[in-house]
Parts: sequence; structure tokens; C-alpha cells
Amino acid sequence: MKQFKDIYDQYSWDEVQASIQTKTAKDVESALAATHRTLEDFKALISSAASPYLEQMAQLSHQLTQKRFGKTIQLFAPIYLSNECNNICTYCGFSFDNKIKRKTLTAAEILQEINVIKQHGFNHILLVTGESIHTVHVDYFLKAFEIIKPHFANISIEVQPLSQDEYAQLQRAGLYSVLVYQETYHKEKYRNYHLKGKKSNFYYRLETPDRIGLAGMHKIGLGVLLGLEDWRTDSFFCALHLDYLQKTYWQTKYSLSFPRIRPAEGVDISNYHISDKELVQLICAYRLMNEELEISISTRETEIFRNNIMKLGTTTMSAGSKTNPGGYSVDEDSLEQFEISDDRSSAEVAAMITANGYEPVWKDWDKIF
Ligand code: SF4
Repeated sequence: MKQFKDIYDQYSWDEVQASIQTKTAKDVESALAATHRTLEDFKALISSAASPYLEQMAQLSHQLTQKRFGKTIQLFAPIYLSNECNNICTYCGFSFDNKIKRKTLTAAEILQEINVIKQHGFNHILLVTGESIHTVHVDYFLKAFEIIKPHFANISIEVQPLSQDEYAQLQRAGLYSVLVYQETYHKEKYRNYHLKGKKSNFYYRLETPDRIGLAGMHKIGLGVLLGLEDWRTDSFFCALHLDYLQKTYWQTKYSLSFPRIRPAEGVDISNYHISDKELVQLICAYRLMNEELEISISTRETEIFRNNIMKLGTTTMSAGSKTNPGGYSVDEDSLEQFEISDDRSSAEVAAMITANGYEPVWKDWDKIF
């Protein structure tokens, strides 16, 4: 069976980049006028030629999002279960070569974290770990699910890539969605950022969403770590990946996240900066390509940016997040994976959503009916 790797290998990074750079105002206008938009239209919409059309893109994105999702924003909280990691990734505070205190939550500590998060009203939870397969493995996740499931309607994970069988096993145990970001689709440069460990295998990571799709997962989340490489070219490859997955695993839902590199212990700040305006352009371009896509904005972004982007395509937001294991209750001062920009509480974020005429949604009834 054909997989995304076969499609990816037909493309050249440099050619895609050049093709985005040569898009013109006419290409952008034609993309805006189209009723069904293609990947070529997407290239035009993320190109610098589209920047004078941002207002129009934002209005369209707002309308399309409201038509499909209503005036709602889904809220979730991440729980960092472990910061142990065997990999060296140059942009991450949990990287193996960072001499930080390592911690993996015990069953009792997970319960302690859950109790605090439940008090904040959350019903959707994202479990995050580093990649330490000897301590944080499928059995660990299964035990964590047993503790977590009675308390939450919806469990997602953002952990090391697993096998198809392991994803299927976790799904049977109650897992709803898996987030796996390629970080960058630039195969050669990928090696410069992933120096040691399993994550340094570019293709194994690239093939992960196929394994998740084959396992029949309800939802897959993709993304690029914005700031590692040219965001336009990386985003084209991510859109290509999404397009392939939607056609291949058409019963699965998809979400997209837009992490921008944030300061963390031992991290060099971005070589390929993406400005706030460009990030808005990118989010709107995805929405114009895809009306069904869930678009998630995390607390990496500032309060002002999140308040403004909320109506322009966003469907999902984290709130009151802690990015360190035990951060809600057990070990509040342990080292974060990255610095949070929006440190408002979940109640404050919910109040902002309501004040904007939207409804904060704590539970996705979709899954139940
Ligand atoms: S990005 Fe993930 S795999 Fe890489 S060092 Fe950080 S936690 Fe480990």
C-alpha cells in the first residue's frame, strides 16, 4: 500500500520553496475566488504575495469556521506525565543533554494532578511525555488511562511514535486522538535538530500518522515546529501530508497545531522567525483549504494574540497549562518544556471567550452521540 513517504519522496524542498516564492497577486486572487481550493491555492495563500489580502482571508476564515463549528471554543489541558527523554533535540528543554531534574509521575501523583485539573472544569485532557521507552511505554500509558478515564470524557496523547498495534491497543483502552508533529519536513536539516535517539529517524516519524490511521484512531493531530526552517515550505509539506491522510483515512478527524519555538533551557531561539501577522495568514490559509479541520492554539502564544486569533479560525485552546511533570500540584517548580506566554487561568480564558460572544466547550458531545 502506498504511504505518505512515497508521495513525500516525489517532492523537492527547493522546488516547493521556489514555487511558493513565485506566486503572484493573481494567484492569490484566484485562490480566494475558488470554491474548492487546491494545494497550489494553498501555496498562493501562504506566499508573501498574499500578505496584502490578509483582511479578506481573515474574514473568510472567520465565516467558514463559524459555519462549521458555530461560536464555540473547545478547551483542554495538557498533563505532562514525564520529562525523561533519551533523545537529543536541540530546541527542547527536556533534551537528554540538559542536566535537569527528571521525573515520571506515579499513579498517586497522576491522580493528584487530575484532581486539580478537574477542579478547573476540564473534561478533555492531553497526556504529554518525553521519549523514554524503558520507563514511559505502552504499559505505563495503559495504567495511566485506567486512572484518568473515569474522570475525563476525552484523552489525547503527545508521546513517542508507537507501532500500529500499540496505537490500536491504546485506542481500545480509550484513547481518542494522537498528536505527532514532524517538527520539520526538511529531511536534511531535520538531522541537525535531532542529534541522538529514535527521533533522529526522519522517516520513522514521517510514517507515524500512517500507522495511527491504519490503527483506526478517531483523530490525528499534525504540526510543524514553526521557526526551525522556512515556515512556508514546511507548512506546504504539512498541508500535503494532511491532504494525503484525509484521502486515505477518511473516517479519521484531523487537527492542526501551530507551535512556534519558545525559550526553554538550553534552546537557541529561532533562525526562521514567523511574525504574528504571518501566523494569522497561515492559520487562515489552512481554514480556507479545509473547513473541517480543527485548529488548536496553545498557551505558547500570548494573551493578546490568542484573544485576537480566537475568531479567525481557531476551534480549540489549551488554558491554564503547566508544561512540567507535576506542574499542577506535585512539583510546581520542576523544569518546564517551554515557557508559557498566556498564563491566565482556565476561568479567565473561559471568561474571555464568553465576553467575545463565544461559548467555551469543556466536553465534546460529538463523541457520545
Ligand atoms: S522534543 Fe520530545 S523527543 Fe525531543 S528532547 Fe524534547 S521531549 Fe525529547
